[in-house]
Amino acid sequence: TQLLNVSALSAGTEDKPILHGIDLTVGEGECHVLMGPNGAGKSTLGHVIMGDPAYRVTSGSIAFAGQDVTELSADKRSLAGIFLSYQAPVEVPGVPLYSFLRSICQMRPELKTTARKFRERVGAIADQLELDQSFLMRELNVGFSGGEKKKIEMLQLLLLQPKLAILDETDSGLDVDALGIVSRGIQAYREQVGGALIVITHNTRILERLEVDRTHVMVRGRMVAEGPASLIADIDKNGFERFERAGEKDD
Ligand code: ADP
Ligand code: MG
Ligand code: MG
Repeated sequence: TQLLNVSALSAGTEDKPILHGIDLTVGEGECHVLMGPNGAGKSTLGHVIMGDPAYRVTSGSIAFAGQDVTELSADKRSLAGIFLSYQAPVEVPGVPLYSFLRSICQMRPELKTTARKFRERVGAIADQLELDQSFLMRELNVGFSGGEKKKIEMLQLLLLQPKLAILDETDSGLDVDALGIVSRGIQAYREQVGGALIVITHNTRILERLEVDRTHVMVRGRMVAEGPASLIADIDKNGFERFERAGEKDD
């Protein structure tokens, strides 16, 4: 069954159109990869699906789990089961990561639990990610590294168990440690939660272990190609040039 249906979506900032007539359908539990050259609008699409108020939808619609969410706030979309990986926690000195995660869960009826059960759950997730438990006691302080932000994202992903996770791997400079954690996190999400995934990445190391159902290519705010998993290897080898040329006649 269909989970996400983005239809003829155009959006941008107050003064700048960025996305033009985007169509994208994701079925329950499916794994999609979104590729495209820098500046194509991949991150913007993720943010617009999440309901980031920095962007405005000018036409088209976003349906999720049978509901039109085009006008819904990001909070409500999150409760409906959409997760976007950029949502790094606010930086609050003095508040440990553990307490932050606990407070997120307590806000959700389906995740609310006793302190003891929560401790067990978070501990199990940290083990699974091969994250040192001491990381949970880190303060939500200014200055998390790119890798540390990724670790927090994976903890949130496995705790919240969304129906759809959009993972925007904007940090190309992840170290081996962080890459491993992202990779393990994605696999655990696929295996245990069975949720759908949109991965925005060029990193073939992360994609190696994923069974991809569909690949999408964006150029200059438009979807220009869609194909099977094998499209990733094609792009890896040949780049985006042929798609960029195909996109030009529209401009
Ligand atoms: P990608 O993720 O594919 O690299 P982005 O979605 O980040 O592309 O950006 C697409 C285009 O929209 C770029 O030209 C970028 O500068 C512009 N853009 C994205 N977000 C904003 C914003 N909040 N304000 C102004 N311009 C933006
Ligand atoms: Mg970019
Ligand atoms: Mg981006």
